[in-house]
Parts: sequence; structure tokens; C-alpha cells
Amino acid sequence: MTRHTKIVATLGPASNNPEVLEKLIRAGVDVVRLNFSHGSAEDHVARATMVRDAAKRVGRPVGILADLQGPKIRVGKFADGKVTLEAGARFILDAACAMGTLERVGLDYKDLPRDVRGGDVLLLDDGRIVLDVELVRGSEIHTVVRHGGELSNNKGINRQGGGLSAPALTAKDMDDIKTAADIGVDYVAISFPKSAADMYMARQLMRAAGGKALTIAKIERVEAVAALDEILDASDGVMVARGDLAVEVGDAAVPALQKKMIRMARERNKLAITATQMMESMILSPVPTRAEVSDVANAVLDGTDAVMLSAETASGKYPVQTVEAMARVCLEAEKSAEVTLDREFLDRVFTRIDQSIAMAAIWTAHHLKVKAIAALTESGSTALWMSRLNCGVPVYALTPSAAAQTKMCLYREVYPLLMKQTHTEREELLYDAEQLLIEAGVVDKGDLIVLTIGEPIGTPGGTNTLKIVRVGEHTQPAGR
Ligand code: PGA
Ligand code: MN
Repeated sequence: MTRHTKIVATLGPASNNPEVLEKLIRAGVDVVRLNFSHGSAEDHVARATMVRDAAKRVGRPVGILADLQGPKIRVGKFADGKVTLEAGARFILDAACAMGTLERVGLDYKDLPRDVRGGDVLLLDDGRIVLDVELVRGSEIHTVVRHGGELSNNKGINRQGGGLSAPALTAKDMDDIKTAADIGVDYVAISFPKSAADMYMARQLMRAAGGKALTIAKIERVEAVAALDEILDASDGVMVARGDLAVEVGDAAVPALQKKMIRMARERNKLAITATQMMESMILSPVPTRAEVSDVANAVLDGTDAVMLSAETASGKYPVQTVEAMARVCLEAEKSAEVTLDREFLDRVFTRIDQSIAMAAIWTAHHLKVKAIAALTESGSTALWMSRLNCGVPVYALTPSAAAQTKMCLYREVYPLLMKQTHTEREELLYDAEQLLIEAGVVDKGDLIVLTIGEPIGTPGGTNTLKIVRVGEHTQPAGR
């Protein structure tokens, strides 16, 4: 059984070694997320090497996602490391305070007093603590504790309804983009973007640093939800970043937004990752809750490209079991999903030849009920278009480029395979493509497949040919 939905797993202390990493990949991890909030440039380089070595040992392609830290909108530190705030108590957030006490705490984000006013609601530590703002005086934000609890060093702050002016890309993020480019990561995720401009800037910085990474916008601000259309335009994909998003828009609004974001991303030929707390209880428990199983399954039914694990694999007790459980739930959900071609499909207009061929392949594969689609692709764009429509036939993307192969690790229903050599002879290429699919155990002699290719062979250019092939049709080239 091949799983269509991809799994992204975050590296951390629980998984940051070759043995666990190898087990995670065997259990089904398709993309490893490097969290740039933790560790130095050297750490990330070493981790990426470790991921690539483990992938090689397992014999499966694994993509790498660099997740940038973004602006630190956080409280400062406490003299005792933490305090316990009581409901009804007064508490001051003070940009000028150096060391926190039960009365006040400093701010990593010095501009917060300028962004808030009396009547605002501030949510700390993912909304576990709620503060009502009474007034702002100079560097001080005076609040009354609505929901108290333990508050420790450097916990995050959100303003209900959004409106914080911190720019998405910090000086550290700009340096980290260079590191990510040097590593050659496949995707870079931008934290807290507010507009398309943030995403264009990230892409530009990545290109200027010589990197080709696809850009993923983490949708976790109210402003980003409002600007979703333009942000999608400016990005290669989105992450439904439910952790921060739930705090800004209210948790109850998130499920509908998740569906909308995934739908919009697919319609615009973009990627979607669903993230945060998917298997949260498995940080401490070897089995997921019923609610978590439903959550993962529903994200699959929503059409997400990938489901993501954060603390579950970074610092949890059962990283490997979590990936196994997630893979199992995805597979079962996919079996239950109804396969129908997009009803608007027939009315769509394409201006590109390669895109038209990709759509024709999906159409043919769906109706002819072939075993597989083989997309011979240099860049992977044919495979991306194919994967935006749910046709129920797996797409095997055959590419001579290792970079294109790992980039496609995130595409739903796409299985990237590396062609060992570049070809100049058409028959030789088709023969090798068939052999690769047979060796991968995907097809047998006599099976029908739909194949797409760009002709003439050996000249870079788009896919322009669709062929229905009975496997075994192409013969071994003479002299081999
Ligand atoms: P984070 O982003 O884990 O980097 O905060 C994801 C989210 O907010 O859900
Ligand atoms: Mn976040």
C-alpha cells in the first residue's frame, strides 16, 4: 500500500541522532523539519547531513524543510525562571524591565507597548494565560490577569485579533536563509508573514543566496488570513500553523480556515501542510487519542499535502510510534476518500502546453484506470499539476535531478524516483523508465500506464507528449 499524504517530522533532542532518525524514515517520514529557533548554523548543517545520510541508508528520498524563527514576540526572563499569576491580579509588561517578578516582566519585543491599547486582550503561552490591557504608559502595559497560571521565561505573546507590527523577517532570519541556501534545503517556511511582500522578500533573499528552496508561508496571523490570496500567489505553499493561528483568530475558527486554506492552495497549484498538535498526546503516550486520529484523518480528507509533527518527534517519548500511528491513520483515511475528478475540470482553460498535458494525463489515467502515471520531469512541475487533482492514480515522477526529487517529497500522491542517467535517445529513455518502475515494484509487464515526456529528448523544455504504454513495449536498446 502506498500512502498518498506525506509526513513532516521535526528534529529535536528526541530524534537528533542517526539511529532514531533512520527509524523515523523507515516509519514513513517524507520531510524533516529543521527548527531554526534552536541551534547554530553549524548545528543545522550537521543535522541536514545526518538526514541525508539516513535517507541514503534507508534508500528513500527525504526532503528538508528549514523553519525560520521569525519575530520573537515574547516576554523576557524571570528572576526565578517563572511566576504563578493569579486571576484578578495586576501584571505589567514593561519593555524597560530587565528581570521579571510577580509584578512585572520585560519584553523581547520592545515595540509591543506601541501596538496595544486599553481594552486589548493579550494571550501568553499559546493562550494559556489571558491578560486584559487596562492602559499603556510609556514602556509599560498595565494589565489585569483574566486567566492565570504559571508563566515561565520567554513565553510567546499574541494579541487577540492580530495587529502586531513586528516584521516577519528578522536579521537572524535573513542570516538563516543564507544557511538554509548553503545546506540546499528543499523548502523554507516563513513565520508570521503578514503580506505577499514578506514572501517575495524571502524568496528573493533565498535566490540571492543561491538557494532554490520552495517558500512556505506559515499562516498564523489574522492579517495573513485576510491576505491569503496574495500570499498564496507569492509563495509555493502554505502551512496551516494552528498553534499561533488559534490564539489570534480563536480556536473555534481554525477548522474551517484549515479547509479553506487547503482548498485555495490546491486550486492555485500550491502546497499545503497541516501543522501543530496533530498527535500531541503522543508526546507522553504510546497511543493517540480518538480525537487526534480523527484530526489527522480529516486533514487527509481536506486534501492536505502533508501532516506535520512538532514536539511529538522533537522532544516526545515515542517519536517512532507517533510516525507509525500517523502513517496508519493517513492510509486508512485515504482508502475511505471518494475519488472524483474536479467538476470544474472540463471548463478550465490552460495557457501552458505542459500543464495541459498534465491535465490530459490525469483525465486519461482516471478513466482508463491505469496502474500508474509516469511523469518524466526535469523540474517536477508536471508532477505538481497532476497532484493538485485527486485522480486516484499514483504519480511516479522520474527525474534525473536529485534536487527535483527531494523537492517533490512533499507533493501528495507523487512518488519521486531518480533516473540514474540523462538520456539523448527516446527509446532508451522509455525503456529505462519502464525498468525503473518495474524495479520499484510499481508495475509488472503487461500493465497499462500513462506516461508524459518532453520531446525532443535531451533538449530542456516542457512536457508536450502523452503516451499510453503497455509495460514491456519498449525493448532494451542494442549494445546494452
Ligand atoms: P511554530 O509554528 O511551531 O513554529 O510556532 C506552527 C504553529 O504556530 O502552529
Ligand atoms: Mn507558530
